[in-house]
Amino acid sequence: MVKQKILKFGILLLLIGVFSVGCNNEETLKTEKLQIVTSTSILSDITKNIAGDNADIAYLVPIGDNPEDYEPIPSDLKKISNADLIIMNGWGLEEGITRAINNITDTNIVYGTKGITPIPLAGSSEPDPHAWLNVSYVANFYVSSILNAIIKTDPNNEEKYRDNAKKYFDDLIELDNWIKEEIKKIPNKNRIIIISENALKYYGKAYGFKTEGIWELNSHEEGTPQQIARIIDIVKNKKIPAIFAETTVDKRYMNIISDDTKVPIAGEIYTDALGLYEFSNTYIKMMKHNTNTFVNGLSK
Ligand SMILES: [Zn+2]
Repeated sequence: MVKQKILKFGILLLLIGVFSVGCNNEETLKTEKLQIVTSTSILSDITKNIAGDNADIAYLVPIGDNPEDYEPIPSDLKKISNADLIIMNGWGLEEGITRAINNITDTNIVYGTKGITPIPLAGSSEPDPHAWLNVSYVANFYVSSILNAIIKTDPNNEEKYRDNAKKYFDDLIELDNWIKEEIKKIPNKNRIIIISENALKYYGKAYGFKTEGIWELNSHEEGTPQQIARIIDIVKNKKIPAIFAETTVDKRYMNIISDDTKVPIAGEIYTDALGLYEFSNTYIKMMKHNTNTFVNGLSK
């Protein structure tokens, strides 16, 4: 009899144990962070400013690499299949990543460029994907698309996400105005950006620069003698005081042009990825660095 009581008591304890473990699990699920995957480090930073600490955000294309020719590795596929939300740029920037995503998940994908009128690639009807280099496009399109997608994924924290997005929007508008003021230091005749990939069309259109690249898109990268000769001619004819190189592109092409024309490479520009330095590890800092580099090189 006593034995039976002890047994019953034991079973009761066991049930309480199971029950409380069940509760704990539920609790953990509730506090688990949103899992968000972005294609680029730039999109990851923009998203972080909206999601705050409610999300774990991972980007796929490593710092220093180009999204245009990036093929996901096995650990990326794991991140993609675990994601609650996937954030991409769109307009053909992430072809390798898109192929991988289509094969392994039907998770919601949001595109930052949604709603923007594209500038086509030269000699093509395809859009140039680098719309994030116009800060007002990030403020008015990328932020709202990403905000809406995050709210849809986690409606309980809508107010927090809206507050974060509003604050970030204000910072971006301030940055946009700052760039417009800074570039006034550059004489009109020097307002041309020459670089390997002609990725600064949106920046140029927003802030008043002509842009030229050896090639149009990194995935079409060639650097043929004809392409290099064309840029050398432009640099010589327009008497441009400085040319530029990207952090994500092999410098030897711009070095050939600089050696031939004796025009210096005035600095490295962040176009397709953030940097690892204190001055380049967020989108806002990267855009400030780029603008300072253009101003320093071309205000002569
Ligand atoms: Zn690019």
